[in-house]
Amino acid sequence: MSDGRALAREFLEQQRLLGGDPVILSDSRTVGLSDGDGALPSERPTVRSSDAARSDGPTVRPTDPLPPSGISYDPPGGDLFSADPLHQAASLDALAALVATCTKCRLCEGRRHTVPGEGPRDARLVVVGEGPGRVEDQTGRPFVGPAGELLTKILAAIDLRRDHVFICNVVKCRPPENRVPQYDEIAACVPYLFHQIDVLKPQVILAMGGTAAQTLLNTKQSLGTLRNQIHRFRGIPVIVTYHPAALLRNPHWKKPTWDDVRIARRLLA
Ligand code: SF4
Repeated sequence: MSDGRALAREFLEQQRLLGGDPVILSDSRTVGLSDGDGALPSERPTVRSSDAARSDGPTVRPTDPLPPSGISYDPPGGDLFSADPLHQAASLDALAALVATCTKCRLCEGRRHTVPGEGPRDARLVVVGEGPGRVEDQTGRPFVGPAGELLTKILAAIDLRRDHVFICNVVKCRPPENRVPQYDEIAACVPYLFHQIDVLKPQVILAMGGTAAQTLLNTKQSLGTLRNQIHRFRGIPVIVTYHPAALLRNPHWKKPTWDDVRIARRLLA
């Protein structure tokens, strides 16, 4: 297979993993539907992809220069000698136990379950969203339901298994009617997130959605402004992209999201 054709096939397969349709080349071969053996299926039903028409935007390739540096936010860490048990929690389980009984903001009133986050202690990538939704509140797990399924596809597209990634939110209890968390709620909850990141020490953080990005970078800049830069939180690279729930409503954001997650992938050792 030629380099150009291999690149095209890789790109289209990744688009498929992100939810795109099969794509037809001019010689009527179907691309992006490989069963995993590396071969291009040549005799498949033909469906023309709307994604193909959108795939002419900028694409980050392995040889492209990385984006420029952006914001660097280095909030003070917790005081180990403080009486606050949060600062003494040395494990993710200890943090989750604190979250489970937390009443530091009004979001505790309507929750069914707290959603502290999940993933392995040695995760290289931490994904941060906004807050639990209805299904997350019912299950106590982050990013489940349709948005979670899309996140799993996004991670698969960069060769990461979901269970190898730590996934969490800025606030650990569901805001009523899935509204955006308010400033005081974020201020009350964010020490949990910051401490999780301190425990995990990931190589990269993927901030999905404006709330996650603005919280991690302590800024009011828009998501559109924050994309395509390498920010830092306590020295850890932060890549900003769209939230999967927003992607479900706006499929034309798949392409920029794909560009963003590929940058995050390149930063992982
Ligand atoms: S959202 Fe966070 S700060 Fe508020 S009650 Fe839940 S765990 Fe506590």
